[in-house]
Amino acid sequence: MTRPSDGLSYYRATANPSYEHPKLQGDHTCDVCVIGAGYTGLSAALELAERGYDVIVLEADVVGWGASGRNGGQICTGVSCGMEKIEKVAGREAAQKVFDISEEAKSLISSRVQTHEIECDLKWGYLHATENAGEVDALRHEVEHLEGFGAKGATFLDKQALEERLGSTRYHGGIREEGAGHLHPLNYCLGLADAATKAGAKIFEHSPALELDTGANPSAKTELGTVKAKFMVVGGNAYLGKLVKPLYQRLMPCGSFILATEPLGENRARALIAGDEAVSNTNFIVDYYRLSADHRMLFGGRCSYSTLEPKDLGAFMRPRMTNVFPELEDVKIDYAWGGYIGITMNRIPHVGRIGEKVYFAQGYSGQGVALSGMCGKLMAEAIAGQAERFDVMAQFKHQPFPGGPLRTPALVLGMLYYRLRDALG
Ligand SMILES: Cc1cc2nc3c(=O)[nH]c(=O)nc-3n(C[C@H](O)[C@H](O)[C@H](O)COP(=O)(O)OP(=O)(O)OC[C@H]3O[C@@H](n4cnc5c(N)ncnc54)[C@H](O)[C@@H]3O)c2cc1C
Repeated sequence: MTRPSDGLSYYRATANPSYEHPKLQGDHTCDVCVIGAGYTGLSAALELAERGYDVIVLEADVVGWGASGRNGGQICTGVSCGMEKIEKVAGREAAQKVFDISEEAKSLISSRVQTHEIECDLKWGYLHATENAGEVDALRHEVEHLEGFGAKGATFLDKQALEERLGSTRYHGGIREEGAGHLHPLNYCLGLADAATKAGAKIFEHSPALELDTGANPSAKTELGTVKAKFMVVGGNAYLGKLVKPLYQRLMPCGSFILATEPLGENRARALIAGDEAVSNTNFIVDYYRLSADHRMLFGGRCSYSTLEPKDLGAFMRPRMTNVFPELEDVKIDYAWGGYIGITMNRIPHVGRIGEKVYFAQGYSGQGVALSGMCGKLMAEAIAGQAERFDVMAQFKHQPFPGGPLRTPALVLGMLYYRLRDALG
């Protein structure tokens, strides 16, 4: 077993050319210091720079090094815990506001791709498929539930209708959404970084913040420099480690893994997913997959709380793929990589302030491609003095993970339970 790295992901191998950024050296001052160059941090940086703020972004590694450059690329509706839970916790009115924000999160991707001409293979269309016959009625109900929030373009598919779209007999039914989709995650992230740079934000790579002052005069210290700022945005998410204790305590990094097959050719690829949608199943431990622009199967899944990953990730992930598409047994796997998803106890994003000057958003719990960008925008709005929408996302209470330093073994046991539950249907 080795520590997770992105090895050479398919995304790094097909990354668009983008700006390079220096390492921070010397002492700097700015309006807003952003920690982390993933979607959360870059979205805040872009929005703030466009509003005329002087922004410095510190990135420990390179732009998109974290989950934003490694993920399944699936643009999902709503929030990871489901809208029913939000409604239960916060009431119908607040849930509607959360849903509206999550809808805007998707259109924000569209508008940024268009405005900044980001080439990231953005496609709309999403299939949710169930392996559990007993769940089919719940999916019918889910369509009505989504419509109740004003969602358009979600349709229930019975087994036959689903099999016309998906070349697998594994599922009993599903939902097709027109308003969700997929993209090349790293190229979207690099595009955001370029847009933020053009808007005037300064990004520093290979510049991990080693110490943060999250008080009334926020500052960050790196190996060779310092940044003093009026405000700070913390967007380090599952890669932040223990730097900010209250954030660390409420977030669990969970390893998720993806393989990319060799190019299958358009006909073979379309026989698997005729409409080129993103697909996921409804299990607790989700399989998520889609086709790349060059007709590879990108198949992701698993969830490991052990923070270690198997040496041969391709071999580890292949059975998940062939369970769904047995005909892919003979295909070559060209790339396999993993990354950390930041999970909260209640699977609701953890958004808030530390004191008055430091804002953070993390813990999208596997559903952050769209929401992270939106939370970055909401933090920027709040810094600019319009905190109403930020407060909608910041209203939720988050419990620390129990177990302190022993929390990982407890979660590994928890996952074994859920694996068994998925297997038993
Ligand atoms: C394998 C995988 C598959 C996923 N699939 C999906 C999916 O299909 N759909 C979906 O919606 N979501 C998915 N997710 C989740 C999604 O990718 C994340 O929610 C989202 O990218 C979070 O963005 P972020 O900017 O908050 O964090 P990140 O992208 O992780 O960015 C954090 C950045 O902060 C930097 N950093 C950390 N500490 C410091 C420091 N001290 N100083 C400076 N910089 C620091 C890191 O290097 C990193 O670049 C997936 C995640 C993974 C790992």
